[in-house]
Amino acid sequence: MTDSFRVTVAGAEQISPNLRRVTLTGDALQEWESTAKADEFVHVHIPGEDPAEGWEDDHDIARHYTIRRWNPEVPSLELDIVTHGHGRGATWAREAQPGDVVAVSDAHGYYSPPEASTRRLLIADATGLPAVARILEEAGPEETFDVLIELISMDDAIALPSPATVNVEWRVSGNGRGPCALVSCMRSMTVPDGDVYVWVACESAESRRARTFIRAEWTRHHTLYRIVGYWHVDAEEQLRKWNALTPEQQAKYAAIWDESRPDEVNWLELEPYLQELGL
Ligand SMILES: Cc1cc2nc3c(=O)[nH]c(=O)nc-3n(C[C@H](O)[C@H](O)[C@H](O)COP(=O)(O)OP(=O)(O)OC[C@H]3O[C@@H](n4cnc5c(N)ncnc54)[C@H](O)[C@@H]3O)c2cc1C
Repeated sequence: MTDSFRVTVAGAEQISPNLRRVTLTGDALQEWESTAKADEFVHVHIPGEDPAEGWEDDHDIARHYTIRRWNPEVPSLELDIVTHGHGRGATWAREAQPGDVVAVSDAHGYYSPPEASTRRLLIADATGLPAVARILEEAGPEETFDVLIELISMDDAIALPSPATVNVEWRVSGNGRGPCALVSCMRSMTVPDGDVYVWVACESAESRRARTFIRAEWTRHHTLYRIVGYWHVDAEEQLRKWNALTPEQQAKYAAIWDESRPDEVNWLELEPYLQELGL
């Protein structure tokens, strides 16, 4: 993702105690294109005090946020942001004022159920809730969803309107406040039938445990699941470990991640390598 679109905050509102909706607008969005994938996201470049940071899309500065809603007529983008602590993104969301300027990247998305299937299992923590809300809102009446969401508080259990048949289970745990329970909940689920598409978005270590579990216990083909790590517990330590890798180790990592292969196929090789590196 390299393109960068300069936008302004049109408004911000609290939609639940730990979730803040920030609406972004600007003429630049006339050139912005949706991927039409319901979990699509952008990098939001949030300027800091240092003007040397510039405005280019930069992984160190930018934060990933799901496009909860895209209104091309305005044009505007809505982001629902977990105000979890004092990171750059959470602080920006908490303090955002109309007229504040940020830049967003072009969009990328992962949610791709096979065309013939109609049954889904969605599993997420609070950061995945905006994507779950959009997936359900944009689903068809022929679809059936089982949804498991782990929240900081039941007061964050927002309405999830959908034309589909939806069964939602909410849990209060994880989200940086305590141990994540998603994989232990998966262990007590009935093994999903053959064509159920499984989508998981949560803290990165838990997402990797979910992938390992799905492969080993549910033995699914890689086209029938998509697992995405959305954030790291102790991101600072994770970054320190990453920066300590030798150039050779980084090159091997880059060589494993082959853009011409499906991401979940890349993960088959990446997971053992990350474990070997202690990551
Ligand atoms: C594809 C994708 C889509 C995403 N969509 C959304 C979205 O729609 N809404 C949303 O809120 N987030 C979303 N995220 C997650 C978000 O990008 C991360 O939570 C990000 O780290 C937040 O940045 P920050 O500046 O607030 O905190 P950082 O500066 O990244 O981290 C500061 C500290 O906070 C901790 N931390 C970071 N995130 C969390 C969290 N959620 N809960 C508890 N502790 C945390 C870190 O471990 C670190 O110690 C998405 C991530 C991805 C990859």
